[in-house]
Amino acid sequence: MARRSEILIIADARVAPSVAAAILEGVRDVVSVAQAKLPVRLAQDEDVVSRIRSREDDIIASSEWLFIAAQDTASSTVKVNADKAFLLLETSVWEQKIYPYYVLVTSDPLRSDQYGFTPNWYRWTFGAAVSIKSFENQKDPSVEEHMRTLVMHAAGHMFGLLPEWRVKDVVDECGPHCANQCVMKHPRYVPGDWTELTRLRLKGKEPFCRSCAENLRECCRG
Ligand SMILES: [Zn+2]
Ligand SMILES: [Zn+2]
Repeated sequence: MARRSEILIIADARVAPSVAAAILEGVRDVVSVAQAKLPVRLAQDEDVVSRIRSREDDIIASSEWLFIAAQDTASSTVKVNADKAFLLLETSVWEQKIYPYYVLVTSDPLRSDQYGFTPNWYRWTFGAAVSIKSFENQKDPSVEEHMRTLVMHAAGHMFGLLPEWRVKDVVDECGPHCANQCVMKHPRYVPGDWTELTRLRLKGKEPFCRSCAENLRECCRG
């Protein structure tokens, strides 16, 4: 696992503070299971502005610029292109700098070039993106709890779940996912499958099954 300084959560201005707080807690839960000892925090404007790779004539004054510049304008509905957003953040592997992990949180649907569809979450090895869109009207469990479950899944992937050495309890659905009742299960039905996982988690069941928790620690040990 490449060395990264911290995990920075970058949310757009329409993400409610209670949702951002739930996402922060969700990422902290994953770091704790992974025993990764990484600080996790919500980004301030200056964190994002200083990291964005600027383009000519763009005046970058706030983190909102990242979400606006990353929009896909091909269709009539606004979609945030996760690939574009990550490319706009400074992520050059050739520079001798240590970068954070990025967790992007958008109120708009996400889009990715690689998959060509609209996922609820998306990741690169150094970043994850989640969209609130499919969950914004959820009441029971609340949108906050849904997002907490969703970001655990996305951050789990960001750290390398499920690793190639995992052979037990694996299903190949959009890449390797967990076959147990665990946040790393593939969410075939949205939001229904997330509702089920969130309810289990709220009943006190561990979010990651034993195999995934162990894999998480192995991935973070490098
Ligand atoms: Zn997944
Ligand atoms: Zn699992």
